[in-house]
Amino acid sequence: MRDDATASAAMLGLPGFRVLAVAAYAGEVEQAVETVEEVTGCPSCGVVAQLHDRRPSWVRDLPAGGRPVTLVWVKRVWRCREPWCPKVTWTETSAAIRPRASLTERARREACRRVGQDGHTVAGVAADFGVGWATVMAAVREYGTRWSMTPTGFTQ
Ligand SMILES: [Zn+2]
Repeated sequence: MRDDATASAAMLGLPGFRVLAVAAYAGEVEQAVETVEEVTGCPSCGVVAQLHDRRPSWVRDLPAGGRPVTLVWVKRVWRCREPWCPKVTWTETSAAIRPRASLTERARREACRRVGQDGHTVAGVAADFGVGWATVMAAVREYGTRWSMTPTGFTQ
């Protein structure tokens, strides 16, 4: 387990995030992560915010060693200290994981690459990533239209 945790921490490599804990069960890997942003300013008034709460958010990431990976992003909920400020509380966001996303952005991109470039089926990629067919199809549509098709697949 220790080696597994070390390997997974090294594998995460998601900019702006660090691993809090790793668990492996039922052929899957679950990693609890948080952002490295421990101090932030209120987006409305700029005053240094106070940590108000933490809320978990589940999202699938790139598979590791052939196993689907789930990230449990322990999101910080911030509170503004200024009583007159209209921004009372807010939840942190990241460009790497969109709000309410089923997959991290890098996993969406990789899912599209596997379908468009490696010729994997959407259903096969969905099984590898541990998500539904529609989730992979949405990633293929979005990234596939951003990239251009060539005879050998997608290029950027
Ligand atoms: Zn404020």
